[in-house]
Amino acid sequence: MKYALVTGGNRGIGRAISERLAADGYYVLINYKSNADAAKQTLEHIQNAGGHAEILSFDISDSISTSTALKQWMSSHEDAFIEVLVNNAGIRNDALMVFMEDQQWNQVIDTSLNGFYNVTKAVLQPMLLARRGRIINISSLSGISGLAGQTNYSAAKAALIGATKALAKEIAPRKITVNAVAPGFIETDMTKDLVTDDIKKQIPMGRMGQACEVAALVSFLASEDASYITGQVIAIAGGLA
Ligand code: NDP
Repeated sequence: MKYALVTGGNRGIGRAISERLAADGYYVLINYKSNADAAKQTLEHIQNAGGHAEILSFDISDSISTSTALKQWMSSHEDAFIEVLVNNAGIRNDALMVFMEDQQWNQVIDTSLNGFYNVTKAVLQPMLLARRGRIINISSLSGISGLAGQTNYSAAKAALIGATKALAKEIAPRKITVNAVAPGFIETDMTKDLVTDDIKKQIPMGRMGQACEVAALVSFLASEDASYITGQVIAIAGGLA
């Protein structure tokens, strides 16, 4: 059995990734923070389709609860090895910089950037020992181009790109690839408060992206076919740059 961990794997893009990796034959660890119902639904959907998964709840921004949850899982599954890690969980909490509260800055950095550190640190050593693995970080076009009102989010997502490139170089000799995916506007809970008609006019393809389209890219990056791709940032944004 091949194991994959998807942070924020219970809903939105993470749910599509969990379902896709399960369809690809992985036993998926569906992580979430607070929405247990969505996690149960995702698990049921995977199982009804004949796939294998389990739910693993922890707050990725909390280093102790993350390492405790993952250490416990690993010690109760001694023969299992998480060979695909998708750092997907993230939040946005937008404000113009001049009005931004410290807590808005810190929450977004703690989740999207420190969350990457906490989870990756916990699963990296077994990958290094096994000399194989895939780490896929869900960044954002906002981290490449910057978006007004999102200095916190753009900073976290840009930093994730820097971390992707550095870690890729560090662990390429161990045959572990690290890549980032940078979605544009994807239809999920995260974008439901946006005025989509205005956004669609800015997107060359004239439509929002679907979570399953991001999941298809993640599936490719996790596959053997992508074994020579590392340290890259792949935008998936309907032509928006
Ligand atoms: P959603 O808001 O739909 O889902 C966010 C997910 O992250 C949920 O599963 C949530 O779990 C989880 N999460 C949030 N904080 C934590 C935490 N501290 N610990 C564990 N899990 C947590 O977002 P999307 O699906 O839209 O986004 C997924 C990723 O894609 C994010 O990193 C986002 O920044 C990125 N992205 C999204 C874009 C879009 O247009 N939608 C565009 C570019 C990038 P729970 O349900 O328990 O709260």
